[in-house]
Amino acid sequence: MTSVLWFRRDLRLHDHPALAAAIEAGPVAPLFVLDPALLSGRWASANRTAFLLASLQELDAALRERGARLHVRIGRPADDVPRFAREVGAAAVFVSRDYSPYARRRDAAVARALAGQGIAFHARRGTLVHEPEDVRGAAGQPLTVFTPFYRAWSALPLRAPLPAPAAIPAAGHPDPGALPRLEALGLPRPVDAVLPAGESAARARLERFLAGPVCAYADTRDRLDLAGTSRLSQDLRFGLLSPLEVVTRARALPCDTAKFVAEVAWREFYHHILWHHPRVLREPFQQAYAAIPWRGDPAAFEAWAAGRTGYPLVDAAMRELAATGYMHNRARMVAASFLAKELLLDWRLGETHFMRHLVDGDVANNDGGWQWAASVGTDPQPYFRIFNPVLQSKKFDPGGVYLRRWLPELRRVPDRYIHEPWTMPPSVQQAAGCVIGRDYPAPIVDHAAARVRAVHVFEQVRNAA
Ligand code: FAD
Repeated sequence: MTSVLWFRRDLRLHDHPALAAAIEAGPVAPLFVLDPALLSGRWASANRTAFLLASLQELDAALRERGARLHVRIGRPADDVPRFAREVGAAAVFVSRDYSPYARRRDAAVARALAGQGIAFHARRGTLVHEPEDVRGAAGQPLTVFTPFYRAWSALPLRAPLPAPAAIPAAGHPDPGALPRLEALGLPRPVDAVLPAGESAARARLERFLAGPVCAYADTRDRLDLAGTSRLSQDLRFGLLSPLEVVTRARALPCDTAKFVAEVAWREFYHHILWHHPRVLREPFQQAYAAIPWRGDPAAFEAWAAGRTGYPLVDAAMRELAATGYMHNRARMVAASFLAKELLLDWRLGETHFMRHLVDGDVANNDGGWQWAASVGTDPQPYFRIFNPVLQSKKFDPGGVYLRRWLPELRRVPDRYIHEPWTMPPSVQQAAGCVIGRDYPAPIVDHAAARVRAVHVFEQVRNAA
């Protein structure tokens, strides 16, 4: 029986249950459909698309080594997948499950169209370690607080990861299609600094991380001045790595990797939340906070997005994002909190900005992270706990290494002023070549006053609910 393996966010050959099932059924026609709705929608991103195209190129090469090849179509999956399946004479289409509201609507439409042609649609696991149906509380309910979720998630048994297939019995189509060039898609130029794409680069990053750094992760993960995290987020986002393999291998190491595994579980948590509560992409998980009177202040948003708030950690974070399509997790938390709390701007503005730039941009994780930072999400992060960007930078970038890397205008500012450069006496500003208001902005808000304002607004909304 011929089948189609429709790749989406599972661009790998290792531990790919849907691919294994298709191979078992007979000849396979691998397919990727570039969906204009995703290439140009609200969350379109040149950085992410560049990474996607390069990853697809490598996937095609890996398929060819095994006797198959990637077929490419550009169009609506509900039209293109059934047409392609019919043309190759497939009896079934296999996919790895996808969980966002858009993906669910898309897959339902594709499955319906296939059913009309007598073609089966099989969605297999592979995007997450555990499925949303499997992680439940004692009463069978989905869990909306991370700690009990993590306990239930950790207690589930892990299946053994599958090896990459040595050969793939191929079904072909006379028109394989071709990957477009990024420029042809009308997207802006991506940043140069995106990490190497494709499954083999992702596997190399995984091997490097598991060979040592993972053992120090618990101590280094929050440090902005060290490369203390895995940098696997874009690989998990595009399924270049199987999260099951990542977790299984981390757990098998002789050192304590629990903190790292717990972070991967946050990814699972936010995907499960989105599955059970698709409304979170439009509104706060805690509905009471839908009434927050966010300010309209385009100039403040522009300053934040451009990394010109006058708070070095926030600015370094935003410039790292603009330059690399990545931002350290600690910096994401501080920059997001600054937008929602200090500036009292709608977190959805920041969410959209992040999605436009992040190579690892993922609707579930990004929405979860933003709602957490804005204190409107699942996690009971209290609204009165507001990150102080100066204390955060003193604690997690004590020598100002991260700040100086992304803020060249602060490079010569002495250590004692680097975290709050507006306190530099004029003579020091002159000597450092960094005059506040000329070379680097004065703070656009006063943290202490903005904190009081935010707490007051959140309190009023909560009390009125
Ligand atoms: P590591 O620290 O090495 O973590 C390992 C993996 O665990 C990551 O690759 C990621 O898949 C997962 N992970 C780690 N932390 C989190 C978390 N807090 N929530 C969910 N998953 C996590 N992550 C994304 O993958 N895509 C996003 O769009 C995204 N947006 C975010 C927005 C905000 C406002 C915040 C606060 C966090 C966001 N995160 C997002 C989570 C986190 O910042 C990144 O996953 C992490 O910085 C990626 O670096 P790393 O791979 O070195 O992570």
